[in-house]
Amino acid sequence: MTSSDSVLPVRVRIAPSPTGDPHVGTAYAAMFNTAFASRSNGTFVVRIEDTDRTRFNAGSEEQIFSTLHWLGFQWDEGPDVGGPFGPYRQSERLPIYAAAAEKLLASGHVYKCWCSSERLTALREQQSAAKLPPGYDRLCVGKTEAERRELPGFTENFVLRMLVPSDIELSFTDEIRGTLNCPMPDDQVVMKSDGFPTYHLAAVVDDHEMGISHIIRGEEWISSTAKQRQLFHWLGWETPKYAHFPLLRNTDKSKISKRKNPAARLLWFQEEGFLPEALLNFLALLGYSNPDGREEFTMTEFGETFEFSSVNPVGPVFDVDKLLWLNGRYIRALSDAEFLERGRPFMPAGVTDADLVFVTEALKERTKKLSDLPAELLWFTDDTTPSAAALSAKGLPEGEVAPALSAVASALSSLEVFEPAPIEAALDALRESMDLNRRRFFMTLRVAVAGRPVSPPLHQTMAALGRDRTLDRLQKSMAAVS
Ligand code: GLU
Repeated sequence: MTSSDSVLPVRVRIAPSPTGDPHVGTAYAAMFNTAFASRSNGTFVVRIEDTDRTRFNAGSEEQIFSTLHWLGFQWDEGPDVGGPFGPYRQSERLPIYAAAAEKLLASGHVYKCWCSSERLTALREQQSAAKLPPGYDRLCVGKTEAERRELPGFTENFVLRMLVPSDIELSFTDEIRGTLNCPMPDDQVVMKSDGFPTYHLAAVVDDHEMGISHIIRGEEWISSTAKQRQLFHWLGWETPKYAHFPLLRNTDKSKISKRKNPAARLLWFQEEGFLPEALLNFLALLGYSNPDGREEFTMTEFGETFEFSSVNPVGPVFDVDKLLWLNGRYIRALSDAEFLERGRPFMPAGVTDADLVFVTEALKERTKKLSDLPAELLWFTDDTTPSAAALSAKGLPEGEVAPALSAVASALSSLEVFEPAPIEAALDALRESMDLNRRRFFMTLRVAVAGRPVSPPLHQTMAALGRDRTLDRLQKSMAAVS
């Protein structure tokens, strides 16, 4: 049995960096990791990678947790829930990285580098002018501090660099992509002069210490894998398995970024009123083909059938229109009560659930995302009287508007019950008796009652407004044409 065949308990992790508001890629990573964990009875860990203090953002960690919870993710171990391998925040684990760095220094696999940033910048510029690949020139290798001090570009604050061997193993097996080859790495810095490890060292140490069996992460990390595997090797640790899922892309095929695409921000989906279950279903469709070809499924179903071999490694395009379509389908599948409850934070002030009983079904039909609700409810909230021109635009000729509206008002006044069915019957009977063009009659009436040419079906609109508001709007429209 080779080491990669050994049967370890499945432990996976996401390792977001708290550098700003959470990226949709974090949810994408959580989705693949939890699916694989649930398929394998594994453990899902959240680790916060906060060693880059220049990009650290104080509120970000909390936002990462709250958006992941909003999406329905739960983790077995993490900074907020604890666990046997904590702490789960890298800034609280500095002595662990220092010990690993010490070991690497003692074995000669990393070396101290005292080069100043000015020297490194000049070196990069020279390499670029000479069309050479960028890379550290190893000026500090094999030198004591005293020896190095005699040379130009010295600074007291040293970093630790990997002494990358020329025969470093560049290829590895990816669970999704098969054999991959990494580019030859530079002598990567693993410990910064401020005593913080870089991502590579911290991630390797933690993946080992936390018993991570499978590293499931985005394809942008493929090129880091050789260096990280080298660190595992030097430290004498077993290498986890790797699976690199595809990066989400903008329609122009570039990597999805907060600068170019609002959909790169997880908070955007919350703000816009996408249903988390629809978003997750959509994310699962990107880069994954369900073995049975179904397009709509829950995360539980996704986890039951998940296979690395069904992940399509070619960068899927994040098509917001398709998400809107799917979200609309999820909204329509909600019960009325659920729809009202979930729509509540988006409802315009003053609109109660009781106001909407007669139109809930119609509203669900029309709503693609919950933030559409204020616009979809303008017919209810906006009492502005339409102009004479608007009443006739696609409706009855100007001279016929007032008599028709007046007849409607008196028919509606005498209804015993002001509900959609009797209203509909009364309007139909009236139109027939007055022999008015159906389309034009209802258009004038809709503009008069809803203030605009689009609203839920008219009898439902009127029932929702109630008799007083409906009659009041009819009167005001009549006045507008007189
Ligand atoms: N901290 C890295 C990130 O922000 C994690 C990369 C990895 O999963 O190894 O995406």
